[in-house]
Amino acid sequence: MSNRYFGKYGGQFVPETLMPALEELERAYEKAKRDKTFKAKLKVLQKDFIGRPTPLYFAEKLTKHLGGAKIYLKREDMAHTGAHKINNAVGQSLLAARMGKKRVIAETGAGQHGVATATGAALLDLECEIYMGTDDMKRQALNVFRMRLLGAKVTEVDIGSRTLKDAINEALRDWTASVRDTHYLLGTAFGPHPFPTMVRDFQSVIGREARAQILRAEGRLPDCLIACVGGGSNAIGLWHRFLKDKKVRMVGVEAGGKGIRSGEHAARFAGGSLGVLQGTKSFLLQDADGNVLGTHSVSAGLDYASVGPEHAYLRDTGRAEYTYATDKEALKGFELLTKLEGIMPALESAHAIAGAMKIAPKMKKSQIVIINLSGRGDKDVQHVAAIMGEGVC
Ligand SMILES: *Cc1c(COP(=O)(O)O)cnc(C)c1O
Repeated sequence: MSNRYFGKYGGQFVPETLMPALEELERAYEKAKRDKTFKAKLKVLQKDFIGRPTPLYFAEKLTKHLGGAKIYLKREDMAHTGAHKINNAVGQSLLAARMGKKRVIAETGAGQHGVATATGAALLDLECEIYMGTDDMKRQALNVFRMRLLGAKVTEVDIGSRTLKDAINEALRDWTASVRDTHYLLGTAFGPHPFPTMVRDFQSVIGREARAQILRAEGRLPDCLIACVGGGSNAIGLWHRFLKDKKVRMVGVEAGGKGIRSGEHAARFAGGSLGVLQGTKSFLLQDADGNVLGTHSVSAGLDYASVGPEHAYLRDTGRAEYTYATDKEALKGFELLTKLEGIMPALESAHAIAGAMKIAPKMKKSQIVIINLSGRGDKDVQHVAAIMGEGVC
């Protein structure tokens, strides 16, 4: 059995009925990741289906504009379906097929993970059912239609807050009853073991590529890696291969929403405390009685009350630092990158840009920063237009 904890974080806080499913998954994953055929198949799909390696792009104009460190963008926005989530969805779909599962289920909030999962399921001929809160379905009607076009069944969750949290509970309930033929395809480096480790491994292709690419381009390692942190999968995916390179600084940017004091944010490290949510022990936004607090962010992908357990551990050990960007700062990052570089970032990724806008100017011109551009902004255009008061929607 591999390690279920990252320091005191992680674990498997699930009902007894789910333990056999987690154990089966852990065994299958441990075997698959050492299997030459599995690795070879994954590699082909990463290259020809996802479009990897994604470029490492020197953002010359952003570098000049900020006047400090040399800035590179790891272009996960150029991956198939427009974000890093496909790396995990394809990896887990391939694993599910290998395990002989006929069906995958997943939860989705903004719909991005639902689309990635439906895509992986279509690719590997798996039945697919996506749980989504009623309110989220209304907000993300286009993604619901996308999932259905890809052959997925989208099931409405009309209980509780009718959002992501309730959708996760429904998906877990389904899995408890259907584990024999069903794989639960969790979307980020969160949840009970082995998910945080497995998702990290499938995403760590980002950092393996980035490390080789920067060595080729600059002949040395970067000084700083910056990524946005929702559940934490794109950040840990970029960082994992660099963890032993002690001189490489790592900065995670959470959603500061309307500011920490407003209470309307998703900055778990700035405003949270130790707690258990959805199978794992980590930092959590909760009140004094342990009730999970409501969150807010302009970007749906960062709008979650807890954070992956490995991040809590990296923060404790001081290996990584965490900061946040407010909605306003993220929108500035969104506009700046779009105008300067002709690259429209996802609002999630715009938080990483906003982080870099503070960090890079304080660094020397000889230093190097890599920002993980986790996804493209096409999905957010209507939302940004509404905020800016443009009459497009
Ligand atoms: C979902 C999403 C995120 C946040 O998820 P992580 O697991 O923290 O990476 C970030 N960026 C984009 C584009 C997303 O779709």
